[in-house]
Amino acid sequence: MRVVRTVKQLREALEYMRMGGHTPIGFVPTMGYLHEGHASLLRRAGEMSSTVVMSIFVNPLQFGPNEDFASYPRDEARDLELAEREGADIVFIPGVEEMYPEPTRTTVSVSSLTTQLCGASRPGHFDGVTTVVNKLFNMVQPDYAFFGLKDAQQVAVLRRMVSDLNMNVEIVACPIVREDDGLALSSRNVYLSAEERSQALVLSRSLREVRQAMEEGTVSTADEARELIISVISASPLAVIDYVEVLTFPGLEPLAAGSRLNSAGGEIIIALAVKFGKTRLIDNNVFTPKEVHALV
Ligand code: AMP
Repeated sequence: MRVVRTVKQLREALEYMRMGGHTPIGFVPTMGYLHEGHASLLRRAGEMSSTVVMSIFVNPLQFGPNEDFASYPRDEARDLELAEREGADIVFIPGVEEMYPEPTRTTVSVSSLTTQLCGASRPGHFDGVTTVVNKLFNMVQPDYAFFGLKDAQQVAVLRRMVSDLNMNVEIVACPIVREDDGLALSSRNVYLSAEERSQALVLSRSLREVRQAMEEGTVSTADEARELIISVISASPLAVIDYVEVLTFPGLEPLAAGSRLNSAGGEIIIALAVKFGKTRLIDNNVFTPKEVHALV
């Protein structure tokens, strides 16, 4: 495994792999503090590619002024061990100076898909994501790029960016990896106190309960799904709901008022963001209503 810190070194390492015929190239962008969710992306990348590139970069552009850029957890030595174990060939770890030698005057912005859900709570966040991912794609020029459905809106936004701008890369969406008790893995879980960690289980529990209610036929509209989720989460005294939304996926359009979940045709996302103290957690379930027996 090669660790590179400049764009020049990265391009040289990639050139070497391409010359040796080690293509296709799979790319896993991350902000580090790696966990089993990132590991699952590396494994998927390894199945589909001959060269696996991972980047570790905490991107200041995607953090708001009152967010956790400075305190975001970092542990490079541990990250490199995990990357090596999970088969990364090249790890790109640029500093902020390398990525942004001067303030960027060019921004990539996807409209409409970025104004709801996390985009509403975190103005400018997705412009930071699309701009840095675009830069990283230009540096790596991967055939495939792997992203987790934990950040389902990010997947929807990046797919649209790639399609709108005819980028020559395929976005591969990978399933959410959870702890045994259901909590979706996140680098930010380390911020949680023991009590917050235990109450945070309401996110995944509410998604399971709504899924079960749909199977049993007691929930069949978006409003009913939202109400059930809100009632489950509200039972946790430390939980402060940011949003609970039921939208089409990947279009992220609301469903017509009162309409049944299966009326939209394609996939649906039930997405939530909940704060515990200073920590904001997200979770979601993307599903096809036609596959839920009682909804058909
Ligand atoms: P991050 O380092 O948090 O920016 O995440 C890097 C990539 O890992 C993104 O594509 C995330 O969606 C993905 N990821 C983070 N947590 C998980 C998880 N629990 N399951 C699957 N993918 C994840």
